[in-house]
Amino acid sequence: MSDAVVLDREDVLADKRSLFSLPSNTVYLDGNSLGALPTACKQAAQAVVEHQWGDDLITSWNKHQWIDLPSRVGDKIGRLIGAKAGQVVCCDTISTNLFKVLSAAIKMSPERKTIATTKDNFPTDIYMAEGLLSLLGDEYRIQFIDENDVASQLHDDIAVLMLTQVNFRSGRKQDITAVTAAAHEKGILTLWDLAHSAGAFAVHLDEANADFAVGCTYKYLNGGPGSPAFVYVAERHQARYQQPLSGWMGHSTPFAFSHEYTPHDSVKRNLCGTPGVIGMQVLDAALSVFDNTDMALIEDKSAKLQAYFLAKLEAHGLAESFTLASPAAAERGSQLAFSHPEAYAICQAWIDKGVIADFRAPDILRVGFAPLYLRFADIEHAVNELALIVNNKTYLRSQYQVVNDVT
Ligand SMILES: *Cc1c(COP(=O)(O)O)cnc(C)c1O
Repeated sequence: MSDAVVLDREDVLADKRSLFSLPSNTVYLDGNSLGALPTACKQAAQAVVEHQWGDDLITSWNKHQWIDLPSRVGDKIGRLIGAKAGQVVCCDTISTNLFKVLSAAIKMSPERKTIATTKDNFPTDIYMAEGLLSLLGDEYRIQFIDENDVASQLHDDIAVLMLTQVNFRSGRKQDITAVTAAAHEKGILTLWDLAHSAGAFAVHLDEANADFAVGCTYKYLNGGPGSPAFVYVAERHQARYQQPLSGWMGHSTPFAFSHEYTPHDSVKRNLCGTPGVIGMQVLDAALSVFDNTDMALIEDKSAKLQAYFLAKLEAHGLAESFTLASPAAAERGSQLAFSHPEAYAICQAWIDKGVIADFRAPDILRVGFAPLYLRFADIEHAVNELALIVNNKTYLRSQYQVVNDVT
């Protein structure tokens, strides 16, 4: 019996895989980019389109509580990131939510003029900060700090420290508790981007005393392409938090159609326009795969899957040619990044063999581990295929060398 079979038998999350609709003959190592499809989403999509929209039309806002979806779904996400109810709302995209939070945070510390972040943050995080700076006076600036030593670079002019917890390329994971404490010591507000955290491992926002967070739901939360994002505002900040995208859905009484904007007295003041109900209902169904489980178990399985992948790579003699670009197990999220000069072509050849991973410029082969639907046998198969590709130099074929628009 192979070691993968034994590990799969011992896996306490093994049953979760049956909640997903996965294509056959595929090993999906890209759940960190677009999560797989939970079967419950199919029924939810049909129900919301056919019965709610089709049959009940506008009455659905009350009858099917469409109006409460952003809060209801937000609280469900909150349970997965250590936020008690009333602090998370589901809406818009990470990019838009970053703009809201950064604007609000800047306003909360008017004497401070710096937004601090890391150079290798996900580009949209930096672009959005720069866009906001273009509206503020010249005295405002963005400062790039070294992600390997955040705490030592904090100073009194920083209003908000915007960090992505897990570096999308390397997988390096920041310690939210320690960094938040260091920031608070200097009077700095923290904004955490949980794009590669939520649904992948345990996050404890309340316990860490975090101020703000944003995240998307189409990665490890499996909400589907372009599913709505979320935003967390710690309860203690909600009354003072003012964001400028003051659309009517964030009003305290949107259906009073008042001439004055009065923000809702909760995290719901982050809402802007009418929510995409279809996508949010599908996301709501997707989150049901997390019922009756514990993020600690998911985190534990992720660590085991990663260790198993690395052990198999070593066993095939591939550990030398694939340089691990991720830090040690305790300091990384649910992914492994390897640098290899032929990473792009190898990834294409792997995909051709039914193993889907992705490539990130300049030379990173990125392997994501979504513990709810990956088996150890899948990892064994994936590494076997990788060994064949490398040993037979299949990746040199011209069809694998052509670069697609989306990598
Ligand atoms: C995926 C990702 C995003 C995506 O932002 P959207 O506005 O939802 O498209 C943002 N930040 C990080 C760190 C990401 O990994």
